[in-house]
Amino acid sequence: MTDREIVRCPSCDGYGWLEEDESPAQECAWCAGVGYVYRGADGVDAIIPPSDYAAQGAALESLEEQRLREMGYSGSAKKPWEQEIRGENKNRLKGGSA
Ligand SMILES: [Zn+2]
Repeated sequence: MTDREIVRCPSCDGYGWLEEDESPAQECAWCAGVGYVYRGADGVDAIIPPSDYAAQGAALESLEEQRLREMGYSGSAKKPWEQEIRGENKNRLKGGSA
């Protein structure tokens, strides 16, 4: 295997999108909306490609649950990578509940 590990996206902090004051949430360009990135042994982050979502699903879910727990959130996690797999409209990820 490679030396890379999956880490929380440093740009959006695992959210997968960036909230702005006035405009709707924007998908994070750093992680392509996944909320997590590969970090290589050299410290360079790389987007997790959609083709890897299935293989990394368990690791991503574990990280996401950890993140939600840190926030004190006990509901079910949004899973952008799984929604990608299902082929759902990306825009649905940005709706959420207010
Ligand atoms: Zn991000």
